[in-house]
Amino acid sequence: MRLRDQFLTAVGATALCVGLTLPAFAEVTEQDILNDANTPGDVVTYGLGPQAQRFSPLKTLNRDNIKGLVPAYSFSFGGEKQRGQESQALVKDGVLYVTGSYSRMYAIDSRTGDKLWEYNARLPEGILPCCDVVNRGAALYKDKVYFGTLDAKLVALDQKTGKVVWRKDIDDFKAGYSYTAAPIIVKGKIITGVSGGEFGVIGRVEARDAETGEVVWKRPVIEGHVGELNGKPSTMTGKVNETWPGDTWKFGGGATWLGGTYDPESNLVYFGTGNPGPWNSALRPGDNKWTASRLAINPDNGEIVWGFQTTPHDGWDFDGVNEFVPFDMQKDGKTVKAGGTADRNGFFYVLDRTNGKFISATPFVNKINWAKGIDQNGRPIYDEAFRPGDPAKSEDGKKGKSVFAVPSFLGGKNWMPVAYSPDTKLFYVPSNEWGMDIWNEPVSYKKGAAYLGAGFTIKPVFEDHIGSLKAIDPASGKTVWEYKNKAPLWAGVLTTAGNLVFTGTPEGFLKAFDAKTGEEVWKFQVGTGVVASPITWEQDGEQWVGVAAGWGGAVPLWGGEVAKSTAGINQGGSFWAFKLPKTVAAR
Ligand code: CA
Ligand code: CA
Repeated sequence: MRLRDQFLTAVGATALCVGLTLPAFAEVTEQDILNDANTPGDVVTYGLGPQAQRFSPLKTLNRDNIKGLVPAYSFSFGGEKQRGQESQALVKDGVLYVTGSYSRMYAIDSRTGDKLWEYNARLPEGILPCCDVVNRGAALYKDKVYFGTLDAKLVALDQKTGKVVWRKDIDDFKAGYSYTAAPIIVKGKIITGVSGGEFGVIGRVEARDAETGEVVWKRPVIEGHVGELNGKPSTMTGKVNETWPGDTWKFGGGATWLGGTYDPESNLVYFGTGNPGPWNSALRPGDNKWTASRLAINPDNGEIVWGFQTTPHDGWDFDGVNEFVPFDMQKDGKTVKAGGTADRNGFFYVLDRTNGKFISATPFVNKINWAKGIDQNGRPIYDEAFRPGDPAKSEDGKKGKSVFAVPSFLGGKNWMPVAYSPDTKLFYVPSNEWGMDIWNEPVSYKKGAAYLGAGFTIKPVFEDHIGSLKAIDPASGKTVWEYKNKAPLWAGVLTTAGNLVFTGTPEGFLKAFDAKTGEEVWKFQVGTGVVASPITWEQDGEQWVGVAAGWGGAVPLWGGEVAKSTAGINQGGSFWAFKLPKTVAAR
C-alpha cells in the first residue's frame, strides 16, 4: 500500500466523522505562482510572490485584534539535529511544507500540525557549509516539491509521498559548493544559484527543466567564464581580464547563494552575487565584475540583461546577494518601475528594474565608514583609510594594516529578507549595527580550503542594541521608524494589509509591529531563537501566521564579540502555527 493510501485509510475515517477537511495535495500551476501575492489562501513561493515583497493582502488580523492571536500547534523537527532554522514555509490546500536544518523537509497538515511525511537527505562526510547547516525553503510546482541540500544537490520530491523523483548534482561539495537558498520556478524551469563564496568557487545561476532536472542554461557571473545553453557553450560573461588581472578570475568567487526574485512584467530574474575571492583585495586589483552585484538575467536563455555592482573591488566581504525586490515607486508624479535592495555594505539602493539604471542609495545603518557616500552613478566614494592594508607592504609580509570598518562583514543586512508594503509604501529592513576589526593575510587558492586571506573580529557600535528593524521610505531613503533589539536580528520580515509587520528575535520572540508607527503590538515566546521568515495565510475563514523556530545561523559562528549577546540562547527545531479564532475576529 502506498503511503498516501495508508494515510487516507488511517486518517480518512476519523476526519470524515468529525467533519475535518483532508489535505488535498493539489498541484501548483504556473498561474498559482504568478498570482501568489494576490491569493492569500496559499503561499506557493518563497517571498509570497515571485517579486518577494512578503506582503499579504489579508486584513482580518489587525493591530486591534492581534492580542487574540493564539498558538494552534507546534510541530517538532525531531531528532538531535537542531542548529539554525532559517526556512520559510509554503502552504497549499491543507498541506504545509517546511525545510529544516541538515537538509530535511516535512509535509504537515496545515490545520492540525500532523506529520504527513518527512525527507532526510543523507549528507556525506566533509560537507563545507560556511555559515551553519541551514536551509531557507522549498519551491512548489505541479506535483513536486523541490529543495537544495548542503552537499550541493537539487532534489525533486513527490508532493504526496516525499519520495525522490529526481536528484541532481549542482556541483562538487568537496570544492566548497553547497546549497541553502529556496529555488524559484519560472516558466517551467527551476532556477538556482550556488553557495561557496568563501572557497573561491565560481558563482553562477542555472536553470533546469523542472520535470526532468536537466540543465537548460548556466550563467557564470565572473568575467571570462563561458555560459551554457541546451547542452552547448553559449556566451562569455564579460571579457577575460577586463576587470581582473592575470589568472585571478579563475577563482573569483561571486557565489549566488541567496537565490533570486522574478518580475513577470519585465521577464527578468534578479540574482545577487557574493564577495570576490579572496577577501584580500590587494591580490586582485580592479572592479572584479560581477562580484558584489545585482544581475538581471533573461530566464529564457540565461543571458545577462543588465548588471549593477554595489561594491566594486570589495575588500570587506560585502556580498551583493541581498534580494532585489521589484516595486512600483511614485516619484515626482510618475510611476517608476523600480526595485529596492538593502545591501550588506549598509546602503539601501533603488534601481530601475527594467535597465539597472541607478536611482538612489542611502545609508540604512549608522557609522558607515568604508565609503563617504555613493556618487551620482551609484559608485561608492571609498575612504581608503578603512580598507584593510596589503600584507605585502607590512614589515614581515604576513599581516596588513588592521582597520575598524563599519558595517561588519555580516552586513548592514545579511540574508534575512525585507518586506515591502504597497499600502504604506515602506520597506521593512531587518538590519544590524556593528563593525569589525579586519586585516589581510597572504593566501593562495587550494581546492576545498577557505580562500579568504583575512582575519576579523566583529564588535557592536552601540551599547544598548545591535539589531534594528527599520521602516524605510524608498522614495526619500528616510527611516520612518525603528525598533531596536539587543541581540542581532537574523529573521525575515512579513507585512500585511492589516497594518502589521512581523519578525523574530534571537531572544525567542515572534513579534508584531504597527506597520505605520513601529509600535510593538504583540509578541510570543517560542522557546528558542527565531531566525526564519514568517508567513500568513487564510484557512477555513481564519487568518493564520506561521514561523520556523530554532537558534543558529552565522552569528553564533562568526559573531566575535557580538556572539556574547546571544550566549545562552537554546537551540531548537520546530514550526509554530498561530491563528486568530473566528470568535475573536468577529468581536
Ligand atoms: Ca498565494
Ligand atoms: Ca561572503
